[in-house]
Amino acid sequence: MGASLFIMRNKTDAVVIGGGALGASIFYYLTKLGMKDVVLIEKGELASGSTGDSAAFIRQHYSNDVSIQLVKKSLEFFQGFNNEFSCNNVFVNTGWFFLVPHHAADVFDSNMIRLKNEGIKTWSVSVSDLLDELPGINTDGIGRVAFEPESGYVDPHAMVEAVVNQGVKNGGEFTINNPVIGIDTSGNTSIVKTSAGDIDTKIVINAAGPWAHQIGLWMDIDLPLEISREQDIMVRPNNDASTITRCVSNMVDRTYIRAEPDGLVLVGTGHPKENEPANPDLYKKEADQEFVAETSRLLGHRFPSLSGSEVVKSWAGLYTITPDWNMILDRSPVHENHYLAVGGSGHSLKISPAMGQCLAEMIVFGEAKTVDISDLNARRFDTGQIVQSTYGGNRN
Ligand SMILES: Cc1cc2nc3c(=O)[nH]c(=O)nc-3n(C[C@H](O)[C@H](O)[C@H](O)COP(=O)(O)OP(=O)(O)OC[C@H]3O[C@@H](n4cnc5c(N)ncnc54)[C@H](O)[C@@H]3O)c2cc1C
Repeated sequence: MGASLFIMRNKTDAVVIGGGALGASIFYYLTKLGMKDVVLIEKGELASGSTGDSAAFIRQHYSNDVSIQLVKKSLEFFQGFNNEFSCNNVFVNTGWFFLVPHHAADVFDSNMIRLKNEGIKTWSVSVSDLLDELPGINTDGIGRVAFEPESGYVDPHAMVEAVVNQGVKNGGEFTINNPVIGIDTSGNTSIVKTSAGDIDTKIVINAAGPWAHQIGLWMDIDLPLEISREQDIMVRPNNDASTITRCVSNMVDRTYIRAEPDGLVLVGTGHPKENEPANPDLYKKEADQEFVAETSRLLGHRFPSLSGSEVVKSWAGLYTITPDWNMILDRSPVHENHYLAVGGSGHSLKISPAMGQCLAEMIVFGEAKTVDISDLNARRFDTGQIVQSTYGGNRN
């Protein structure tokens, strides 16, 4: 779909490093805002990092202003995706249930008021009504339930490909299988060194996901990022009557569950849990046996009809985590023509459209216009003004 094996331009206005959800979105919006001379560089295939491993839930139950505003804008993007990018079924609107334990009922209630005040379409559902929506569910331990009719999930590979393709139509260029191997920051412009040649560029954007720390060092900045391994499984329900028609985030058992279009069911475990530090170039990409067994057990406990389902696939991807579990989305404090979109922290696929738009606006217009992203500034871990959230972890 138009990736060049060699970079055609050796001088450009902007280089985006990383072809995941963030890099793709920034690339697309830069070209959409009129910056034609933009090159996206990806060391593997598009979406071959965290994005391709993502469970890809799109839900709106956040608990801080900046994330709520970003997810609202991003949902509009997903709802218009098929028209804008001439695709089918990239965003699947299943609706989303959030199951909350009794001990978190108070914070849940106040957060629901906040979400409604901020215009999110969501409401509480009684535990008995939940049985109509998710027949056979074991309701033990569920204190509160939220429903979001407009939420669902995306196909992350199809999303990134469509978005990058449109950026190319808008005048940008991208290369794959072409690692950035260094950045020379000594001049007025930057020289981005790649295995296919050097590019002299006015602007560099670091959207390298789990590898962002290394790119950061080449940008002369030591980014506060921690990498953690995150596992998922896919099961085949052992009867045709799968009860999972919606996306479900289950804070009671710390699981997330959703069906694929072919009827397989994806299951992962949420937070709180220990981080599992990993080297992005050298980590185990299949799930551990203990994880598979425990996640299957939790699935069967909550949905007894799925007990004993065959596990057909398992994998592990990477979270890139900042100290407050929110991205750094800002101009670099070190070089004014360097920008950072790093630290997806386990929940940033769903907000990548608006984040890309905001960073592109900052680059083109000098400030983000769509959402005020100043809370995601790069200096907040030094000043102590971190982003607050109710639930913590990737729930945020
Ligand atoms: C198992 C799992 C489940 C998740 N579930 C959800 C979810 O349900 N909902 C949600 O919103 N989020 C979820 N997330 C988080 C979400 O997937 C990430 O926040 C998001 O994908 C991060 O995108 P990114 O573009 O920053 O990083 P990435 O997708 O990792 O992209 C970075 C890219 O940069 C490239 N790169 C790195 N170094 C170089 C280099 N030197 N030269 C060139 N290219 C380079 C990499 O190859 C990679 O493709 C999940 C993540 C995982 C792992």
